[in-house]
Amino acid sequence: MSVDTVSLTGWGRTAPTTALRFRPRTYEEASIAVRGCGPRGSIARGLGRAYGDAAQNAGGSVLDMTALNRIRTVDAAVGLVVCDAGVSLHRLMEVLLPLGWFVPVTPGTRYVTVGGAIGADIHGRNQHVSGSFSRHVRAMEVLTADGSIRTVRPGTRLFDATAGGLGLTGVILSATLQFHPVATSLMSVDTERAVDLDDLMARLTASDHRYRYSAAWIDLLARGRATGRAVLTRGEHAPLHALPARDRRTPLVFRPGRLPAAPAFVPDGLLGRTSAALFNELWYRRAPKFRTGELQKLSTYFHLLDAVPHWNRVYGRGGFVRYQFVVGHGQEEALRRIVRRISQRRCPSFLAVLKRFGDGDPGWLSFPMPGWTLALDLPAALPGLARFLDGLDEEVAAAGGRVSLAKDSRLRPETMAVMYPRLSEFRALRAELDPDGAFRSDLSRRLAL
Ligand SMILES: Cc1cc2nc3c(=O)[nH]c(=O)nc-3n(C[C@H](O)[C@H](O)[C@H](O)COP(=O)(O)OP(=O)(O)OC[C@H]3O[C@@H](n4cnc5c(N)ncnc54)[C@H](O)[C@@H]3O)c2cc1C
Repeated sequence: MSVDTVSLTGWGRTAPTTALRFRPRTYEEASIAVRGCGPRGSIARGLGRAYGDAAQNAGGSVLDMTALNRIRTVDAAVGLVVCDAGVSLHRLMEVLLPLGWFVPVTPGTRYVTVGGAIGADIHGRNQHVSGSFSRHVRAMEVLTADGSIRTVRPGTRLFDATAGGLGLTGVILSATLQFHPVATSLMSVDTERAVDLDDLMARLTASDHRYRYSAAWIDLLARGRATGRAVLTRGEHAPLHALPARDRRTPLVFRPGRLPAAPAFVPDGLLGRTSAALFNELWYRRAPKFRTGELQKLSTYFHLLDAVPHWNRVYGRGGFVRYQFVVGHGQEEALRRIVRRISQRRCPSFLAVLKRFGDGDPGWLSFPMPGWTLALDLPAALPGLARFLDGLDEEVAAAGGRVSLAKDSRLRPETMAVMYPRLSEFRALRAELDPDGAFRSDLSRRLAL
């Protein structure tokens, strides 16, 4: 097993910390790394796509799981896949799409591991229909603090603590996943523009249930009557008959494109309010007012940013903060207030997404709950950002909502405890299974998990 000392950050590139990195290739090596981790503990890491400090461990060890990346069995008749936790969703798509199966839930990037997808209990654009990732996990093997490997199934405490448990209950070694059947590798996409936030919410409420996938890009720099204007794109896997004749011969081909990498250094001033406003204006105007049935590649519809390697560098040396919250149905006024606060403050946000969540899943620290979720990126160096986001946290907590932990890098422990009512159960299970704190991360110390 390779071992080195590295400085690590999350995808937002803020707050680097140094750790001893182990790269186990077998379950035995993973077990040795956990048992030998020392007083600062260890944490599993996948592809480091969590934005904040969930997969870092200052002065302790980090288990890079990406060498445990075998797809063990595929039952192509029913779409059941057994794989190591370090395999990426990208790899699973390469292998399973030609067989007519698609990952049950994908986030906005394919470059996450199965372990990371369970550890953050990720959601996708189909959350309102399919729930989050853990809903499609039939079983997993988890290495716990005592060095034993347990088979963990849905409906048990360890399952519910591990789904969304940010690696703090143990190291996920493998998982059995139920995939979704598809006839083609193209998406049929409907696009419409919403003139303001109320128009957007009305459109989502009226017809989201008709689509498997749905999300809206929202212009957080628009003000006045245009506050919350958006471009709504909703889609379904295209059926075979929707493809042009020439594509019907290879309907399940998977060939995502790549663009040149983002430059290593972007001057901070380049991503100011003016360029963000210009970008947002163009993005809104170039979207069709209404278009149905446009065929798009899976990679274009779901993973646009993956085409640009290292796109997270574009925020400059200071890195960026991803802020994502959810507030329940009936709390629309809180959402309106928050959107107004963000747009009045003129935050240079390029990538803001609004979605309507359906039922949540049982994970004790899972993020989704029925309601409205808004995600946005902000340059970390923005003056007064910490105080501004603390204010939004208070608003979200008062509305009974919560902030996503896999995206977080700055939440306060007392606010987090209000947002996640099952935190005490999570802590109790950790105390029972891991009394000496074998599993720790920068995030677990910051939020006293
Ligand atoms: C461009 C982009 C778009 C995104 N879109 C979405 C989205 O739409 N929805 C969403 O929910 N998230 C989204 N994310 C966040 C991302 O899906 C999650 O952070 C995911 O956990 C990253 O997986 P990873 O393999 O990189 O894990 P890491 O970032 O390395 O780790 C994330 C967490 O999982 C734990 N973990 C990793 N591997 C294991 C393991 N084997 N056993 C136990 N715990 C483990 C880590 O300890 C850590 O707490 C997005 C991220 C990016 C960069």
